[in-house]
Amino acid sequence: MDTTVQSWERRELGSFFHTFSDLASLREDGPAIVEKGDGAYIFDTAGKRYFEGNSGLWNMTLGFSETRLAEVAARQYAQFPGYHTFFGRNSKPTIALAERMLELAPVPMSRVFFTNSGSDANESVIKLLWMMWAAEGQPRRRKLLTRKNAYHGATVMASALTGKDYVRAFGLPNAEIVTLDCPHSWRFALPGESDEDYSARLAARLEQQIVAEGPETIAGMFAEPVMGAGGVIVPPDGYFRMIQPVLQRYGIPLVADEVICGFGRTGHLWGAQAVGLRPDIIVASKSMSAGYFPMGAVMLSADMDKRATAACELWEEFPHGYTTGGHPVGCAISLEAIRIITEEGILDNIRKVGPVFQAGLRTLAEHPMVGEARGLGLMGALEMVADKKTKTAYAGEYRVGDRIAKAARDLGFIIRPLGASVVLAPPFIATLDQIGQLLDVLKRILDDVHADVNRRCA
Ligand code: PMP
Repeated sequence: MDTTVQSWERRELGSFFHTFSDLASLREDGPAIVEKGDGAYIFDTAGKRYFEGNSGLWNMTLGFSETRLAEVAARQYAQFPGYHTFFGRNSKPTIALAERMLELAPVPMSRVFFTNSGSDANESVIKLLWMMWAAEGQPRRRKLLTRKNAYHGATVMASALTGKDYVRAFGLPNAEIVTLDCPHSWRFALPGESDEDYSARLAARLEQQIVAEGPETIAGMFAEPVMGAGGVIVPPDGYFRMIQPVLQRYGIPLVADEVICGFGRTGHLWGAQAVGLRPDIIVASKSMSAGYFPMGAVMLSADMDKRATAACELWEEFPHGYTTGGHPVGCAISLEAIRIITEEGILDNIRKVGPVFQAGLRTLAEHPMVGEARGLGLMGALEMVADKKTKTAYAGEYRVGDRIAKAARDLGFIIRPLGASVVLAPPFIATLDQIGQLLDVLKRILDDVHADVNRRCA
């Protein structure tokens, strides 16, 4: 069999139906096939090394060669390779992980169940809320509040919650989704408006929307503490402090989608702690297994637990679950990943490297092409603009984000394009040196791409 790089690419294109992959880039550049990893680096089939500046999809936070996770997995596979949590059954690693997550929760939480991903965890929450409200005699409480630019997943309702225009491809969002403003000061605050004033305005607008929809029709609100795939949007100071009383006034539970932020990304164990969010329900995934196993989790406050349990009494069960949710191997891996993050200096590393990364990004904001540099901890973004004063976006035809990401890739750094922005989320094990190299390369690429775009504009 032909095993050259070209042949792998050919075989890939001939057999694989790509998801979330730009078809023009795929045609132009072909697929990128990765063969192995070492620490924060991955190697393609040609042996070229790349610093993974996005931790894969935010999830490979402990890098690509954490042998302790592989060993725990091997031990658990040998001990008891797989089971489920239906019909009152369970296994030890699953119980131990549930307990550990409750110990670490940012606000008191009462119970946990496990899923396979972030999407299906959010989907589970929606079903739970709908069931709960119906059981409480409020079956009209079905609408879900979300925000423009939010990302909550790819299953049907999680997609509907996703505040990106592409969901129209599927005839979404549907009538049960209410989209709120994206809390992005740099883009949407009024000239001279302080963060606090902007937050107060967003809270007032939230209340107007709730009243207009009818509070008796709203089941819950979903929010990422810091929006990730929407472009690393850190909410303005006071945002959650001001919107939470509004939600409470109308009895609307707040779901923190901690899929990206949870377990350290912001420099806090939870994004909720970074932004003053007090959730009723928490959804986690990604870093909880450091990407070494598909895992998701839903944590319920005592109030949600009590009300959801009462609803289950009507049906004699929670008629929901996934075959591999709470998989003992996934839970054993997650326990170890969480131990490494919390007890082996990883959170400390994020707190050391994160501020240097953020300061470096802020320096790049001085570049003539960069409108805003933003982020928190080890998540950041640069948004490029054609005119810094008016914040006018580059026309799509310049494909600025794509070009920066492609130039970075040529130089051995993976970063993610997002329209005219690039998004960065280095692994939690990244060193100061690696962050320094990433920032240096970015500076160089910004100069090159800027010169090139100027030439085209001229
Ligand atoms: N919520 C958030 C905030 C996410 O960033 C993602 C994935 N990037 C999801 C949910 C969906 O998770 P998954 O892809 O594991 O289904």
